[in-house]
Amino acid sequence: MKTISILGSTGSIGTQALDICRRHPEEYRVTALTAKSNREKLFDQVREFRPEMAGLLDGIRAEEVPEDLRFCRWMSGKEALRAAAAETEADMVLVSIVGIAGLQSVMDALDAGRQVLLANKEALVTGGHLVMEKAKEKGLPILPVDSEHSAIFQCLQGAGGNRPEKILLTASGGPFRTWEKEKIRSATRAQALKHPNWDMGAKITVDSASMFNKGLEIMEARWLFDMPESRIQVVVHPESIVHSAIVFEDGAVIAQLGAPDMRVPIGYAMSYPRRRSTGVREPDLFQLGKLTFEEPDEEKFPSLRMAKEALRAGGAACTVLNGANEEAVARFLRDEIAFGDIYDLVARALDRLSGLTAGSLEEIFEADRLAREVVRKR
Ligand code: NAD
Ligand code: MG
Repeated sequence: MKTISILGSTGSIGTQALDICRRHPEEYRVTALTAKSNREKLFDQVREFRPEMAGLLDGIRAEEVPEDLRFCRWMSGKEALRAAAAETEADMVLVSIVGIAGLQSVMDALDAGRQVLLANKEALVTGGHLVMEKAKEKGLPILPVDSEHSAIFQCLQGAGGNRPEKILLTASGGPFRTWEKEKIRSATRAQALKHPNWDMGAKITVDSASMFNKGLEIMEARWLFDMPESRIQVVVHPESIVHSAIVFEDGAVIAQLGAPDMRVPIGYAMSYPRRRSTGVREPDLFQLGKLTFEEPDEEKFPSLRMAKEALRAGGAACTVLNGANEEAVARFLRDEIAFGDIYDLVARALDRLSGLTAGSLEEIFEADRLAREVVRKR
């Protein structure tokens, strides 16, 4: 029996992780659940999974907790996130909240000696060096949940200790893959939220359309697998069946394939090193017939180029890119700016805020704040 605490349990990743807990009640016990604001959904989850503690970032008063749910400790605000990451009985902490907010939780969980299952790529994008150093110091390797990084991690299990020469990071290309550049710039919210293969939260769905998601994933891979950006090749693969691959010096390529269903990578992180049923079937290769691959178009999607430049620049550049993007996407989702403005605002923040350092969490949060301010002032 493993115990698990889930931060962001009401979201796309969080609810799928609970599906797996529901499937294997003899294997997983839930110790903590947190959400930002969706009380009703969290109440239902607490009723079903009976954790020790539950928390709402936006806060809850004792008298607002339904009577039948008072068996568990209810907490509010950042204190709730900290307790869920570090104070319950959990062996594993699934960090599946959105944005840079995940960084503190990852550090708290590691500090408390918990195994981190990481969906929140922003933690590595902004604080990768601090997270990896802490994970190493604690002897607690980060288990990736992001499908591409889980794929690479799974491929590495068959590498026999050989270090890959290169990573092939696959990307669906998103809903605008075949669109002209000008049309992409004026895409609407509804168009950006219609992902061809994956059903995900709003922020990452917009990032997939802009391909900032793939840029963030290059950064994530850089830290997880200690691989320089020059050896990470993005490969557009519209079918989303090959989830990523690694290349060895003898010319061999090991890839991981599967249906585009996050329960596989979530389940693997939860049961690692074992495998357990997830409710997902293997893809029907005869039905698929063929798989296709394309080179990414950096002219149409400048996000990829910006991400690689930020990695090369070092310091707080990746945090600035991430913070400006988070703020711009939030504005786009409120219909305040056009889709194309996301690229311009991120470029502006990177330009205005070059040379910031990221030696500590405080410096990272400050760089994030400054990047958001550049976007807000527009
Ligand atoms: P989501 O929007 O569906 O869910 C986010 C969850 O986090 C919710 O429970 C919400 O209440 C909570 N939350 C939101 N903001 C918060 C904050 N500031 N502090 C604390 N809690 C907060 O998002 P998602 O799609 O599940 O994505 C979660 C993370 O996983 C993201 O970092 C995303 O990039 C990553 N990821 C998601 C997928 C996917 O298929 N959805 C795939 C790969 C990686
Ligand atoms: Mg991914």
